Amino acid sequence: MLGVIVCSKCSTVQGADLKSAHVTCPRCGARIEVKRAKVYFSTESPKELAEAVRQISEQMKYDIENPPEKPRKRIRVKKSKPKPEDEAAVRSALMKIQEKKETLTKADIGKALQIKDSIELDETISKMLLAGILCEVSPECYRLV
Ligand SMILES: [Zn+2]
Repeated sequence: MLGVIVCSKCSTVQGADLKSAHVTCPRCGARIEVKRAKVYFSTESPKELAEAVRQISEQMKYDIENPPEKPRKRIRVKKSKPKPEDEAAVRSALMKIQEKKETLTKADIGKALQIKDSIELDETISKMLLAGILCEVSPECYRLV
């Protein structure tokens, strides 16, 4: 029987013949006692074993990079986006640029609204598109409506 085990020292996921007493971790060289190791998956098929190693490695990597007790990197405290009462200010800031350039690029909008964060800028632009303040005339090129 073949199985997927994880090195207790360096967490490398590896396939092993479960009949062996020990295997040596290919990454850190630790001797892993197969009988004592937690078997994550077992199969008779080497092909299935390879696939299971790949999948479990990915899962482990995900768990290591995204420990549940720590906040995810992508979670951010959102600043308030232009509120309806700011719409006039937003419009006039954008209008000034549009008068000169005919259209507004993403960078122009960022500058006018003083948004440096690209994700925040994308969100703001999509909100303005939804609110009917802006329309997209070509990719990343906008006009005030
Ligand atoms: Zn190891």
